[in-house]
Amino acid sequence: MYNETALVVFSGGQDSTTCLFWAKHQFKKVVALSFLYGQKHQKEVEIARAIARNAEVPFEVMDVSFIGRLTHNSLTDTSMEMDSVKPDNSYPNTFVPGRNLFFLSIAAVYARERGIRHLVTGVSQTDFSGYPDCRDAFIKSLNVTLNLAMDEQFVIHTPLMWIDKAETWALADQLGVLDLVRHETLTCYNGIPGDGCGHCPACRLRREGLEKYLGRTDS
Ligand code: ZN
Repeated sequence: MYNETALVVFSGGQDSTTCLFWAKHQFKKVVALSFLYGQKHQKEVEIARAIARNAEVPFEVMDVSFIGRLTHNSLTDTSMEMDSVKPDNSYPNTFVPGRNLFFLSIAAVYARERGIRHLVTGVSQTDFSGYPDCRDAFIKSLNVTLNLAMDEQFVIHTPLMWIDKAETWALADQLGVLDLVRHETLTCYNGIPGDGCGHCPACRLRREGLEKYLGRTDS
């Protein structure tokens, strides 16, 4: 265990909630930071707040809703239908350009002000939509950039980078929070907590991972 504090970039979804509890096992103290970026389902912030409260983790929300005004994407634009499959040769319209760049840069400044150098994010390049700002190369590059920008020694931790959804469920189970993650988090693109709407891309990925994991543990 690190005898230090970690800041978790926290949305109240399956991945960042698993990371929150991972961090609680790894660090002496954990704080959580959520972002309002103009997302349609702003109640995810209230869900995040409730999970953090129950986990006894200090929680703060940053308003970065300018991101929703900068970009044209289906997570912030209520008039856009979400892509249910990845289009050929491009990203699904759920891609919010720059989102993790902004989130992690702001998180690093926030952390520095509080003497925190460990940052935790739930990005993964294993079985997601292939968003470029979820990839390991981007995170490593940004880590170097943040250190140069502020003459600091930040360490960005990505516990989910190389594991798939089934293994993310397994990690939640190891951490003793499988039921909490299953029932209290919000991953669904249609804003329905827990098992969600069942048919959006986020729900499908989440459910397939859970079925794969439970199938494994039953056998
Ligand atoms: Zn859904």
